[in-house]
Amino acid sequence: MSKATATLKPGEPVTLPPAGNISFEIEAGQRFKMTQPEGEQVADLISFNRDDPRELLSMHGSRAVNLSWKFTKPMTLYSNRTQPMWTIEEDLTGENYCGGGYCSEHLNTMRYGDKGKGQPNCQENLEKAIRGYGMDRWNFNIDACFNVFMTVAYDADGKWEIRLPKGKPGDYMIMKALMPQIVAISNCPILFNACNNFRLKPLTLEILK
Ligand SMILES: [Zn+2]
Repeated sequence: MSKATATLKPGEPVTLPPAGNISFEIEAGQRFKMTQPEGEQVADLISFNRDDPRELLSMHGSRAVNLSWKFTKPMTLYSNRTQPMWTIEEDLTGENYCGGGYCSEHLNTMRYGDKGKGQPNCQENLEKAIRGYGMDRWNFNIDACFNVFMTVAYDADGKWEIRLPKGKPGDYMIMKALMPQIVAISNCPILFNACNNFRLKPLTLEILK
């Protein structure tokens, strides 16, 4: 019995509803496709080495090897032991945030005040997704999170800002797993900033045959 919240059968897409979360396992060599049926929706993705979940995805390691802060095809993403975890094979939107991080109640409250309290957020979503493995929020960290389809500006004057997403309806990413992994995804529920263009939408997930 899997400890994941879902089993993705190859060739059978599943819909992740707006603000939803999921975990599933993927084998080395399998290819994972994530689609924005309506466009303009960000996914926060973390993943762990299934055989030793102390090893997890690292945005820092991936930036440092790729010498890039804009991961897209055909780049490889690395773990906190700098081992290859994923290769991006297709990326129609071509816009992903690679600085790490996810929305949380404490971050939302500091940024947006009391209206952030008790609101859905990616940290809670990711925590719920991995609970079946006996893991909690301290088993992952902001460096592990790949913000797929998210637009963040680094302006020349030093400004850092989440901007409107660029995903068009039907845009997708395909990532090939390079080790057996536990994958957790939050369909980002934030409405306080431009991340999802102020409307939450579904995502479609599929392990390809
Ligand atoms: Zn979020």
